[in-house]
Amino acid sequence: MMAMEAEAAPVRAALGLVGGGDLLHPAFPARIWTGSNVSLAVNGRDPRFAVDSIASQPAVTTTLHAIERTSPSIVISAGTAGGFASRGGAIATVYLADRCVYHDRRVDLATFDRYGDGDYPVARLGDVAERLGLPTGTVSTGNALDAPAVDRAKMDASAAVAKDMEAAAVAWVCERLNVPFTALKAITDLVDTVHPTRDQFMANLGAATAALARTIPELIAALEHRPGR
Ligand code: SAH
Repeated sequence: MMAMEAEAAPVRAALGLVGGGDLLHPAFPARIWTGSNVSLAVNGRDPRFAVDSIASQPAVTTTLHAIERTSPSIVISAGTAGGFASRGGAIATVYLADRCVYHDRRVDLATFDRYGDGDYPVARLGDVAERLGLPTGTVSTGNALDAPAVDRAKMDASAAVAKDMEAAAVAWVCERLNVPFTALKAITDLVDTVHPTRDQFMANLGAATAALARTIPELIAALEHRPGR
């Protein structure tokens, strides 16, 4: 599951997925490409705003339609993310999720606070991460590119290593449909530095997506050849 075409194009090339893909649903711009052992779905260009359909809403509909279409053995939310220098993050580091939460669904009402955080099931892939040399950690999702202090405090509390806008939305659908979920996120920008996120994102998008495109085929091969699978 991917949100931005700039992230997806190098990954499709690395996976040998060619052509224009298929529409997943007539009312949504998401498209899917299918190869022998993997499908890649991209949320597509919003028809009204003419930008990539990022953030949680399209992630939900695309994930639902893609799972219905392909009955996958695992769903991977793949893309770029903000990282944290204070937790060892660096540009183009690729993380595999071991936890997936929201940081901006603040609902200070009885158990709605836990509903807001989500904390969705994440596939236990520590062995795979070790084999591939991938660091693991919490992927934290919200619907903003910026990181106000309240969100920062939440991400520090969960020791987030990757801040994105889709993973938890994908994870929620996977939980409902009982499909194993993980996230693979390449760092484009460091949240806890003085440099504006947007400038870092634009400067590092190429390096981060190249790292993602190198790692995804390795991850898929490792999942396929996992002992006991
Ligand atoms: N292209 C836009 C920015 C893209 S929005 C621009 O021109 O400014 C960011 C996308 O990359 C989302 O899909 C999100 O999942 C991911 N992402 C990368 N860095 C992020 C960060 N620091 N915070 C939240 N999402 C981030």
